[in-house]
Amino acid sequence: MISRLLPLLCAVCGLAVPALHAWDYDGHRMVNQLALAGLPPTFPAFVRTPEAAERIAFLAGEPDRWRNVTDLPLRQANGLDHYLDLEQLTAAGLAPATVSALRYEFAAQFAAGRAQHPENFSMVDPARNADHTREWPGFLPWAITEYYERLKSAFSYLRTFQESGGRPEEIANAQADIIYLMGVMGHYVGDSTQPLHTTIHNNGWVGANPKGYTTWEGFHAWIDGGFNAKIGLKPGDVAPQARAAKVLPTATAAGARDRLFGEIMDHLVAESARVEPLYELDKEKKLSGTMPGSEEGRAFLEEQLLRGGELLSSLWLTASRNAQPDTYLRAQLLKRQAGAK
Ligand SMILES: [Zn+2]
Repeated sequence: MISRLLPLLCAVCGLAVPALHAWDYDGHRMVNQLALAGLPPTFPAFVRTPEAAERIAFLAGEPDRWRNVTDLPLRQANGLDHYLDLEQLTAAGLAPATVSALRYEFAAQFAAGRAQHPENFSMVDPARNADHTREWPGFLPWAITEYYERLKSAFSYLRTFQESGGRPEEIANAQADIIYLMGVMGHYVGDSTQPLHTTIHNNGWVGANPKGYTTWEGFHAWIDGGFNAKIGLKPGDVAPQARAAKVLPTATAAGARDRLFGEIMDHLVAESARVEPLYELDKEKKLSGTMPGSEEGRAFLEEQLLRGGELLSSLWLTASRNAQPDTYLRAQLLKRQAGAK
């Protein structure tokens, strides 16, 4: 299997263009709104005020706003967090099931694998690589995992302020942090259910193309928003189908790879299995956006938005359920209370 992949990978890795955007802002908003709709009534109510709900929806677009800059440090740090070209792991002799959950440890694994398998990677064109992102496969599952951890930490702080004498402004600040993190992380989860964010075939098919899939470089942008705009997809069309959040498994045995990271990576691999069906739909002219004829394309893309909302809602719920009081903050608050007496 791998030997069949190699010529393809060798031919395309240097050509692979990092994806520009995933869902347009409207699509990302929908994912965050679907996730809010999927939360159980027991989830903290402050996220559901109209102001908070609008803020969470607005923040779905934030990481793409960070992409529209020319400054290289942000272009590199943020740009790589929106995708993972899974084929590049294989090319470097790595596997999704075993790569490190720790970002920089994985980066070292990938760099070593790339150096050991130079035949699988063609030269990167320096003229198209000012931000030095093309040496890397993308870090999407690491970004999602890290945001989950930030959110869990924010829930820990909120809980501690609430239980151990936090002031109203401290509680309000902790709630604002949670709203911010929920909104921003929603972007990356939304990216993870745009199948073109899991593959080197992100801007049209590259390399050997026996099935004759489209090589149109605008294909990515069409899936991000062109199709949905043409058919007039609105949040209200998918909102009634929002799926309920589930608590995800996180218990990790000592010394084992982080369990939640494994769940997120498994999810990404499952989404990558949707890449070819998406190209098939295009080949069958079911993604033209013209009705009738594009019903199947519409159902496929609605399903992707719903999957994004479901995973995001589940990550939010899992973070809030797993957050334990912060012992350092609690000690500080108790000391403050004792000093005030
Ligand atoms: Zn993105």
